Amino acid sequence: MALKTIDALQLAGKRVFIRVDFNVPLDEQGKVTDDARIRAALPTITYAIAQKAKVILASHLGRPKGKSDDKARFTLEPAAVRLSELLGQDVILADDCAGDGVVKLARELREGQVLLLENLRFHPEEEANDEGFAKELAALCDVWVNDAFGTAHRAHASTAGMARFVKEKAAGFLVKKEVEYLGKALGNPARPFVALVGGAKVSDKIKVLENLLARADTVCIGGAMAYTFLAAQEVPVGKSLVEKDKLELARQIMDKARARKVDLLLPVDHVCGDAPKETARRVVVADRAIPADLMGLDIGPRTLDAYRQRILSAGTVFWNGPMGLFEQKPWAEGTSGVARAMAQAKGVTVVGGGDSAAAVEQAGLVDQMTHVSTGGGASLEFIEGRELPGVKACED
Ligand code: AMP
Repeated sequence: MALKTIDALQLAGKRVFIRVDFNVPLDEQGKVTDDARIRAALPTITYAIAQKAKVILASHLGRPKGKSDDKARFTLEPAAVRLSELLGQDVILADDCAGDGVVKLARELREGQVLLLENLRFHPEEEANDEGFAKELAALCDVWVNDAFGTAHRAHASTAGMARFVKEKAAGFLVKKEVEYLGKALGNPARPFVALVGGAKVSDKIKVLENLLARADTVCIGGAMAYTFLAAQEVPVGKSLVEKDKLELARQIMDKARARKVDLLLPVDHVCGDAPKETARRVVVADRAIPADLMGLDIGPRTLDAYRQRILSAGTVFWNGPMGLFEQKPWAEGTSGVARAMAQAKGVTVVGGGDSAAAVEQAGLVDQMTHVSTGGGASLEFIEGRELPGVKACED
C-alpha cells in the first residue's frame, strides 16, 4: 500500500504534531556530538513550516527512569539548540510534553513557529502506550505525522497510540524514504540481489536470514555468527564465539539456501587473535579452519575479496551487521572493506541501521550509498518482514 505522506495534507494554520527521532548522542557538557538524526528530520519540519503549519515536535532521548531526577541528563534542550541553528529560527522548548503549560504553549503557537516538547519518556505512559496519555498528546494537535523511523518498531503513545485520536495523519518524508528504500530492496530488487549479514549471533538474525533467503541471490555471512555456521559444518573454529545450541538451526538455514539455490557464502580465511582485545596478537589464518588457540575476530583478505566481487557485480546490495569486532582497529578491516566496496558499487546500496550504519559513517561514506537507514532495530524488523506499528499507524 502506498504510504500517505505529509504533502498530501493541508497544513496551513493547523497544529501539526510531528513525532521525530531526536535521540542524539551528547557529550559531557550536554552538546550534541552527532546531529544526523536532527538533520534527517529537517525535510519534514521545513516543509511544515513553509506550509504555515503550527509545528509541534516531540521525541524521546535516552532512557530516563523518572522525570525530575533525570531532567538535567535527558532534557531535549541540546537538540532544541541544534535544531534552532539548523533552521535559522527560534525553537520554543516546553518544560514538559503534557499538562496545562504545554496546552497553553500549543494554543498560542503562530503559523510557522516551532515548539519542541520535552522528552516524552519523562512519562512512563509513553512507552506503556497509555490511552489517556495518547489522548492528551492528540488533544494538542489537528494533524499527527510520524517521522521517527528509529522508533517505528515500537507501539508507544506518540509513535502509534495517539494516531487513533487525531483527525488527520500521515508519514513524514524520512519514514517514507526508509520504507521506500528498504521496501524496494526487498520487494523488487535489481538483480543480482546480494545481502551481507554479520554481527554476533545467528539467533538475533534468524528471521532476517530467512526472509533474505526467500529474496536474495547471494547471502554473504560475516561476524562472529559465521563461526556458528562453520562449526555446524564441523570446521574447527578454535576459541571463536559459537552458539552451540544453534548448530542445528545453522544447518537448516544452509539446507534452505541450497534448496532455494541461494549462494550462501561463509568466510574462507580469517583474521584471528588469542583474545578479543585491541592488544591481542593479530594472525591472518589463510584457511577455513582456525587453530585451537585462536579466535576469529574478522573476515580474512580472501573472504573480503570474494564479498567485494559480489558487491561490485550486484544490482542491489543490502548490508546489516559488522564483519568482525570492528570497534577495535586490528579487526576492523573486513567491515570497513565492505563499506568501501559498497561505496564503489554501481548497483543500489542499502545499509541497515546500527553498527553497519555507524561503520559507514565512520568511514565517511554515507553520501556514496543509495540509502543508510537511520533505524537499527526498526530496519531489522522491517527486513524480517514484520509490520512496523509506527508505519501502520500512518495508514487510514
Ligand atoms: P550484533 O549486535 O549482533 O549486530 O553484533 C554486533 C557486535 O558483534 C559488534 O559489537 C561486533 O564487534 C561483534 N562482533 C562481530 N564479529 C565478532 C567476532 N568475530 N568476535 C567477537 N565479536 C564480534
